[in-house]
Amino acid sequence: MNLASWVERHGRRRRHEPAIAVGDVVHATWSEFSARVSGGAGGLRGALGLEPGDRLAILMRNRPEYLEVQFAAWHAGLVAVPVNARLHRAEIAYILEHSGTRAVVTDEEHAEEVRPLLDVLPTLETVVLAPGPEWDALSSSQPVPLTDRGRDDPAWLFYTSGTTGRPKGATLTHGNLLMASLSYFADIDPVSEHDSVLHAAPLSHGSGLYGLPHVARGATSVFPSSGALAGAELLALLGRWPGMSFFAAPIMVKRLSADPALAGANLSGLKTIIYGGAPMYLADLEEALATFGPRLAQIYGQGETPMTITGLSKADHADHDHPRWRSRMQSVGFPRTDVEVRVVDDDGHELPAGQAGEVVVRGPVVMAGYWDQPVETADTLRGGWLHTGDVGSFDEDGFLTLHDRSKDLIISGGMNIYPREVEEALLRQPHVQAVAVVGRPDPEWGESVVAFVVTDGTETTTEELDRTCLDSIARFKRPKEYFFVESLPVNNYGKVLKRELRDRLGAGSEPA
Ligand code: AMP
Repeated sequence: MNLASWVERHGRRRRHEPAIAVGDVVHATWSEFSARVSGGAGGLRGALGLEPGDRLAILMRNRPEYLEVQFAAWHAGLVAVPVNARLHRAEIAYILEHSGTRAVVTDEEHAEEVRPLLDVLPTLETVVLAPGPEWDALSSSQPVPLTDRGRDDPAWLFYTSGTTGRPKGATLTHGNLLMASLSYFADIDPVSEHDSVLHAAPLSHGSGLYGLPHVARGATSVFPSSGALAGAELLALLGRWPGMSFFAAPIMVKRLSADPALAGANLSGLKTIIYGGAPMYLADLEEALATFGPRLAQIYGQGETPMTITGLSKADHADHDHPRWRSRMQSVGFPRTDVEVRVVDDDGHELPAGQAGEVVVRGPVVMAGYWDQPVETADTLRGGWLHTGDVGSFDEDGFLTLHDRSKDLIISGGMNIYPREVEEALLRQPHVQAVAVVGRPDPEWGESVVAFVVTDGTETTTEELDRTCLDSIARFKRPKEYFFVESLPVNNYGKVLKRELRDRLGAGSEPA
């Protein structure tokens, strides 16, 4: 099934209902959205000469035209390549070249990053500006019928965020994205046409994925008018578009939870905040629950298995009296309906509850492979299981706790130290706002534990931090060194760039 059939069908049935909005203003009804999608597909095929299977990149900030282009690409049978709009020019060039992209649709803000590539990249033929006359002309072309797409046809090349090395293009098929959308209804929420989804995070990543089940059910896709969503704007949007859900990285949830505009506010229009993509620390989650009530759901997924590995439902969050509530809230939840999840040792043998190993996943949502990288694909999908690179363990009830990415694990004096555990411990110190723990090469111990700490400005000594650690974790795990920093380096998806912190340490001098 072609995912763009969702737009076509709501375009018929719900002609005058809002499909896309910016702030409180309707940008397109379903019939307008559908017309731009089928017309856009006509323009991409006709004027641009693109053929089913060709790659079309989308490089723009979140805006309504993003969805028009994405669904037009699918309608035309093309493979969409959503590119993170904040990447460096060289990273953008790499993705366009690697994917063999023939055309890019971009906005004014990013056009200068792309246009020079027309002279450099052999496959790149066209750059189209949207919004503006170029996209208007294309999207009012003679519509073409929906292109037949099967379950295994690629729909989206999801370039990994590249916290290690070069990004890889996880090839997500129409079947993968359909399954990811259906399992949203199974495990997170049913969605109705009266609901809405707010695109507060990048459409090239989580927000794009969580938008899909909402388009499938005819809900309204809402774009905040401002770039950085704050509490007051959220409140106004909830009043206008109730039944609202949105995806947010943990740092965004933390920022919103502390926004005074939301304290004690009427949040009845808010349905669900789905958080994930990076660890949510217990202290932050408790604060978020105090602000938002039990409207939080967690997901653990990867570009390689979009949205779905495990999840903590709203009901799990609300089950405060459960004897293991705290440990559950520190877990990434229970396996999603559409996947099998195991924890395995280095030889691929399944490990019992309580033992940590690599998390592997199997199911219809797992990517077809990495685009044009057969060796990496074979390795990552060996034995028919997606090897996530995450280290985790199940508890007796079947809840999975992630310890860390295997490469972030610190081995000191032959002992495994999971940075997450040290970070959770340090965050109990009331003046610590953020922390990242990494390993520094050490001639005696192999590696030693180093913490980068952001405080609220109150004088905090390393002795105090040491004491906080010793209250909850073994002595050998506590950091040997602390560096107080203004902020932690994070990528555009809210993931702390530990590699960058390790590089700072490796440089030998005092890290800045
Ligand atoms: P990406 O493919 O860019 O979405 O990154 C996926 C990675 O983010 C996973 O392999 C995990 O390491 C991490 N991640 C995703 N969801 C969570 C979560 N709920 N808690 C902790 N880490 C997560």
